[in-house]
Amino acid sequence: MLIHNLIVILMTNNKLHAINAHDLLVISGGGFSCESWLLGVETNNVRGWKTVPRGCESFVGQYMIGKRYGEDLAMVVGEAEKYARGLKLGGDGKEVWVFDVDDTALSNLPFYAHRGFGARAYNKSEFDVWVNKSRRPAVQQSLRLYKTLLSLGIKVMFLGTDFEHDRDIISANLRKVGYITWEKLLLRIPKVKLSTISFKSSERKKLQQEGYKIVGNIGDQWSDILGTPEGDRTFKLPNPMYYVN
Ligand SMILES: [Mg+2]
Repeated sequence: MLIHNLIVILMTNNKLHAINAHDLLVISGGGFSCESWLLGVETNNVRGWKTVPRGCESFVGQYMIGKRYGEDLAMVVGEAEKYARGLKLGGDGKEVWVFDVDDTALSNLPFYAHRGFGARAYNKSEFDVWVNKSRRPAVQQSLRLYKTLLSLGIKVMFLGTDFEHDRDIISANLRKVGYITWEKLLLRIPKVKLSTISFKSSERKKLQQEGYKIVGNIGDQWSDILGTPEGDRTFKLPNPMYYVN
């Protein structure tokens, strides 16, 4: 009871940033650990969540803004580069790598950080304004992978959950931050109601039917990398900010 009160007081005074993640875990140890939640999210055991759990906003903030998020991205990208460098290419230019857009190629971290990673961060109209400003920075580790793949002769496809009517905005944003070329930028059509998994797997299937060989597929959501055909190898980037069904 005393411990519970301590959390509430700290949160009411908005001073959770003053305590470190380990302290937060100890304090919240009454059956719910933010670190366990994060592990559950990244292993696809925790699904369908709408917002970061109350009490874990600061934990997520520390993870995202501190060193750890960047280190975790670098670990995934390092493995992806190792895999890509070991591929034997056919010489016909048909090998492609699929990149998701949101929080894989382009970062929405400033948007969520500005809103404290909590319930305030889930405002669709504010998010649309943010996307329309075309000022999203690159996820630097993904940009590094992109450049490595191009240097190896592997083509890049962007497969976003964004809508076709934002094509010009997204293209301009991608180019501005260093994604200078791509084989295709595939986006959703609003009237076609498909789940993300169905949409993305059907687009990947079309790529295969066109003769492309999907050697790699990288995304920050499980819905980017589940569904047949998923690609020869998939890579999951961390994202505890939101969940896409
Ligand atoms: Mg994404």
